[in-house]
Amino acid sequence: MNPQHRATEIRANCNLLVIIGRWSIGGRSRPRKALRSCPDSMQDLQGNACMIHYDLAVLGSGPAGHFGAIQAAKTGRKVVVIEKDDRVGGTSAITGTIPSKSLREATLHLTGMRQRTFYGSHYTVKDNLTIGDLQSSTSQIIANQTATVSAQLSRNDIRLIHGTGSFLSPHELMIEHAQGQEMISADVILIAVGSRPARPPGMEFDGQKVCDSNQILLLQDTPRRLMVVGAGVIGVEYACIFSALGCQVTVVDQREEILEFVDRQVLDVLRYHMQHNQVEFRLGEEVINLKTDGHDVMAITRSNKHLRADCLLYTVGRQGNADRLCADAAGLTVDARGRIATNEVHQTSVSHIYAAGDVIGFPALAATSREQGRSAVCHAFGIITCSEYTAMMPYGIYTIPEISMFGPTERELTKQAVPYEIGIARYREIARGQILGDTDGLLKILFHRETLKVLAVHVVGEGATELVHIGQAVEALGGTLHYFAQAIFNYPTLAECYKVAALDGLNRVRLAGQSTTKPELAAVSEQKSSKSKVAATG
Ligand SMILES: Cc1cc2nc3c(=O)[nH]c(=O)nc-3n(C[C@H](O)[C@H](O)[C@H](O)COP(=O)(O)OP(=O)(O)OC[C@H]3O[C@@H](n4cnc5c(N)ncnc54)[C@H](O)[C@@H]3O)c2cc1C
Repeated sequence: MNPQHRATEIRANCNLLVIIGRWSIGGRSRPRKALRSCPDSMQDLQGNACMIHYDLAVLGSGPAGHFGAIQAAKTGRKVVVIEKDDRVGGTSAITGTIPSKSLREATLHLTGMRQRTFYGSHYTVKDNLTIGDLQSSTSQIIANQTATVSAQLSRNDIRLIHGTGSFLSPHELMIEHAQGQEMISADVILIAVGSRPARPPGMEFDGQKVCDSNQILLLQDTPRRLMVVGAGVIGVEYACIFSALGCQVTVVDQREEILEFVDRQVLDVLRYHMQHNQVEFRLGEEVINLKTDGHDVMAITRSNKHLRADCLLYTVGRQGNADRLCADAAGLTVDARGRIATNEVHQTSVSHIYAAGDVIGFPALAATSREQGRSAVCHAFGIITCSEYTAMMPYGIYTIPEISMFGPTERELTKQAVPYEIGIARYREIARGQILGDTDGLLKILFHRETLKVLAVHVVGEGATELVHIGQAVEALGGTLHYFAQAIFNYPTLAECYKVAALDGLNRVRLAGQSTTKPELAAVSEQKSSKSKVAATG
């Protein structure tokens, strides 16, 4: 794209310095400066398009853009958010995080799965459950989420432009929308355009037989047999949801293991549950072609297997959206996967342009994207933030049962030769676990064998994604197992797992012949014993 535009720029409240000029990518013709006022109607007196100037322009209204924009507005900056979709909230609110979690919750509720320990394996809350039943609650939650984001933007006086943004130059953006084109300029630009599902060339995605993670939300019928290609987090989460709905699910991946970054013991619990729900794994198999054969969709693997299903969900990777921004006009480079490189404060190679969220790659989570967007804006405007606590990042995987963790796995600690020990609590021994009917869940604390400092927590079971934060806080504050062993927890709660796991861990250390006394208590008891020795001899 090489647009040539007449443009007028209004600086500071639309009444001061105006730039009139000819625009081109690559700087062949540059704007000429003139002093001229321009009314609010976006056109100057000659009928040229106006270009309003902002302190911050944000491309994308997902978690990274939303949080970045609000942070800047809260500190008095003039902010615009450009969003290409007709709804705000991004992948997180519309096609990813919130819809998939809502679908999972509706599935768990309406299938009665949580109560089956008590009422039998055939118990359901709603008979003849359809995908439409699940979609209705999901779409209400999406509507509430987008309305909340929209209200927050407007409450903070952030201008929202619905249109597709791209770069004209390092400080200027062009926005194409239903009414035509518009240009804006900004001191700081935050790229928060997220990512889209990656699609292999040559595969046709019709949204019913072959779909990606956006399209699966719009299925018209629940498939009888679903094939999930790609056993990453998204694929495994959907495999669990559809198997809970009674589909026969096959998970295919070229890797030999699903979710390899998860603790082995935790993964065993998940795999046990998935297999119990009739999920079949075809690991070490690469899908090289797709065909339709009558009603069936067929995945052909490199080992020449022909795997059949009614519907295939393709969840192999995501592609960043920076490849559609004309980023070179701003002097930026985009990699083959549509991502932009940044430094540790989310600054790109052009110092006033920042990037946050999925567009910068790993870890590509809503949880991290929001904080990246916010901290990028804090850096850009010199807003002082607290850096005293650096908590380890938690991961939440909303499989059935759910998984959560922070810190290294046993395998990683072993590789690094860290002297560690574990403490485990099993939900079946915890009153709240029994009340909830979750008897397979477990919480595992990994701690330093000598200092007893918390190193990691891995949880599988009901409430795992909430529970993990207790351990995360204790770790960030430098706590040891003694905190959990001594603290009083509400009873009956799942949080009690921490106490049980800590007592188990201390016991293991004691059995190994090591002292488990807190250093300060050890000092007191030493003082006491030397005083009594003095008294005895005196
Ligand atoms: C199925 C699924 C489940 C997930 N589950 C979780 C989860 O449980 N927990 C979690 O933390 N994360 C989860 N994620 C990841 C999470 O959704 C993303 O990490 C997060 O949404 C990224 O935020 P973002 O702001 O970078 O981008 P997005 O949320 O993708 O937002 C980017 C926005 O930019 C807009 N845009 C793109 N190009 C342009 C342009 N040129 N001009 C203007 N606007 C543009 C897009 O329309 C979009 O609204 C999940 C993702 C998927 C797909």
